Formats: sequence, C-alpha cells, structure tokens
Amino acid sequence: MGPGRAAWNTLGTALGLARGKPAALRGRGPPWLRVWGSLGAPRSLSSGSVRGQLVPERSARGAAGNGSGSRQPNFLGKKRDCLFSGIFGGSGAGDGHGGEKLSLQDIAELIQTKACQRVVVMVGAGISTPSGIPDFRSPGSGLYSNLEQYDLPYPEAIFELDFFFHNPKPFFALAKELYPGNYRPNLAHYFLRLLHDKGLLLRLYTQNIDGLERAAGIPATKLVEAHGTFASATCTICRQSFSGEEFRVDVMADRIPRCPICMGVIKPDIIFFGEQLPQRFFLHMADFPMADLLIIIGTSLEVEPFASLSEASRRSVPRVLINRELVGPFAWRPRHNDVAQLGDIIGGVERLVKALGWTKEIQDLMQRETSQDAL
Ligand SMILES: [Zn+2]
Repeated sequence: MGPGRAAWNTLGTALGLARGKPAALRGRGPPWLRVWGSLGAPRSLSSGSVRGQLVPERSARGAAGNGSGSRQPNFLGKKRDCLFSGIFGGSGAGDGHGGEKLSLQDIAELIQTKACQRVVVMVGAGISTPSGIPDFRSPGSGLYSNLEQYDLPYPEAIFELDFFFHNPKPFFALAKELYPGNYRPNLAHYFLRLLHDKGLLLRLYTQNIDGLERAAGIPATKLVEAHGTFASATCTICRQSFSGEEFRVDVMADRIPRCPICMGVIKPDIIFFGEQLPQRFFLHMADFPMADLLIIIGTSLEVEPFASLSEASRRSVPRVLINRELVGPFAWRPRHNDVAQLGDIIGGVERLVKALGWTKEIQDLMQRETSQDAL
C-alpha cells in the first residue's frame, strides 16, 4: 500500500503542499493542470528501491558548515564555496552579501572542474514544447482541440478520477497520443542525458508526463516523474500492476484496457487530482541536501511541489534557471549565487552546452539517437 496518507500529508505540510506559496498563486483552481503542459509516453518502468536511499546522510554535517568561503570576492572563492559546502553543507552563504554574481560561464567551469558533480535538475513543460508537444493549457492547441470531441466539461476533468470513472475515453485518447515515437527528445533532453553519461546527474525531477526523458536514454533510476508516467499502470479495482506494454494494444485500438483478473479499468500511473505523489518523490529528501548544483529548466515554478523544491537545495549551492522569464523564488527570494539565463529555452541550454565545450559531443549524440530511431 505504500506510505499512509498521514505520512504524505506530513510531507505535504513540510513542503508547503496545498498551502503552497506564494499566496497570490493560490485559488486559481486545481494546481496540477497549470503545469500539466507537457505530455508523453515512456518506454519501461524500473521502480528500484526507494526506501534504502532515503537517509540524508550528509545533512547532519551541516552544523559544521563552512560558509566563510562564500564571502571571498574572487572566483576561486566561489568555486571553493561550491566544492566545500558540497561536502560540509555550509549554510553561511546568505543572500545579498559578499560574493560576486555567478555567470553561466562560471557554472560551466564549476562543472568542468568537477567542483560541482552532484547535479539535481528540475524540468517542466518548457523543455517539451520545442519537441512539438502541445501545451495542454493553451486553448486552440492541437491536443486541446482534439479533446473537444469527447465532451469534457472542462479540460482539467481529464485528470479527475470522478470523470475518469464516468468516461475514461478522453484520457486514453491522450495516452494514445503520447505513446513513444510520436514525439522526439530535443537538445535540452540530450543535455541532461550527457550530464548522466558523464556521471554528473544525481537526479532529474520532471513535471512532464511525455516520457521524453526516458526516450532520451536517461534511466528510470535517475528520474523522479513527479506527475506520474504512462510506463506503468494499475487496476483501479484490485490494484494489480501492469507495464505500459501490456495495455499498449488496447490503447492503440481505442479500447479501454481492462484487468484480466477483475475486469476493472486499468489506469496508467499518471497522478490525478487528489492522488498521492509517486513514492519516488521521497528521494528529494536525500537528493536536495546532497546536491552541489541545481539546474531548473522550462518551468514556471508556480505549482507545488516544484515551487518549494527549488528552495530545498542548500543556500550555498548555485542555482541555474534557464527559462523564458524570471520565475518563482528566483524572482521573489533570489540568492546571491543564482544564475538566470532568460529567453528561448533551447537557446539557453545551447549557451550552457557551448560554455561547457560539449557542442560537438551533443551533436554526435543526437545524430546517433536519431539514426537509431529511424531504424
Ligand atoms: Zn483488477
């Protein structure tokens, strides 16, 4: 059964879930759909052991924090801050005093020199729209229009259990749209793949349900799919688990997949309104204290739990935002070691890739993957 509701509620309170912040962003209807811009279908699921990895072993050393390095005005000081606080969990690097602003070039250097090598990444719909995945929120987008034929009372209903039990067809139409192959990962996804290949990716937290992270070759063990996945499914009655492949034929044939045991409707493991977060989400309790660099790409940071997560890294750890505009805590509670690369998202990732000297490597990788897909 997994953790009880009480445990989730405690976590939710700790993260500010539901009571989310800032207050001005509350009360705009159900939260999930506002970020549910990006959709897709992954390949396979490997759940892995969650419980064994949840001990934030380094956080206890935080009391011995070494924050003094952050006040050194030279670049070495900044580098040392990242490196040493990564080890000791320094908390002395307060906002707005000491230390000069970091640049994207500085971040690249911190990665190249392995001063930062436990990178946590958070991504949202903004990395998937360049792959052609329609923004679910935008009236007039292909997906939204496609769903009109199903008489949804309002778009959010597609992720509501009550409506699903009344009429699961729209949701399965979405599942069909998002099966692997319809959409391809883009440069942003392959940048994350390269981070992983180089042993630098601690974890990738995604709000997207399009599965493009998996399609780019990032293993499920490195992923926390915060809004769930189409790679697995569960019987709504007897709770039997199924892999995505097991109901693929039904979905492709526009049939509602049924459980062979009890004939209940099988629902892909996408998180609906009011449902618990995936158990893997608990990994954040270990990942964020351990991270020595946080990169956030293409998300508005308006919706919990992502809004709070962006503040869960240690204060001495640099945060990089690659996004259309300044959002969330980067706007209303900036830190001295924040780096914001604003504007076109792919362009921003490209700049970081170039600063890292990975341009040729990523081109080769994308070429290899594309030719494989074509086979
Ligand atoms: Zn069943």
